[in-house]
Amino acid sequence: MRIILMGPPGVGKGTQANRIVDKFGIIHLSTGDILRAEVGGNTDVGKKAKKFMDAGQLVPDELLLNMMENRLQQKDCKKGYLLDGFPRTITQAEGLELILKKINHSINYVISLTADETELVNRLVLRGKESGRSDDTEEVIKERQQVYWELTSPLLEFYRERNLLFEVNGLGTISEITNRILNVLE
Ligand code: AMP
Repeated sequence: MRIILMGPPGVGKGTQANRIVDKFGIIHLSTGDILRAEVGGNTDVGKKAKKFMDAGQLVPDELLLNMMENRLQQKDCKKGYLLDGFPRTITQAEGLELILKKINHSINYVISLTADETELVNRLVLRGKESGRSDDTEEVIKERQQVYWELTSPLLEFYRERNLLFEVNGLGTISEITNRILNVLE
């Protein structure tokens, strides 16, 4: 099973991703987590990505595509994966299609979690206070929301045209949302 999980920042993608991968025995590939690890390790990728991440902007497509082309060919991806936070632009989605074709993989489902924007900003401000994530300040949060609507939301149409898109209401308790997603996947 290969899944793309989409949704605006703060909708709870990470939490739902963890529950879905446990259920299906697939791996969770969060490009945000991968990039934060690169920044933490002060690698070349991390050094290039940091300034974009701190500003709430997208890291350049080429860097993401190279990184994911390598990652998706690793052995642990054979059992299936859930992509969380990637692709985030049309260029990335087109690049991902080429990568998948090359390695003979295809995506089974694109799940889009939907929610009201004000609710999301409130949630993120709270998360920032609790976790100390450096891009969870109100200003950066608003920037990340705007980036989502401008650059990432066109992907909904991209995947709808390919008959892969399933929209799931992202408001409710964690279990309610998980059940809605599982209803699509099972
Ligand atoms: P996330 O944890 O998914 O919210 O990602 C945190 C930050 O990492 C984003 O605000 C971007 O700066 C960067 N990032 C993660 N995934 C991508 C992606 N697919 N394309 C570009 N930048 C990304």
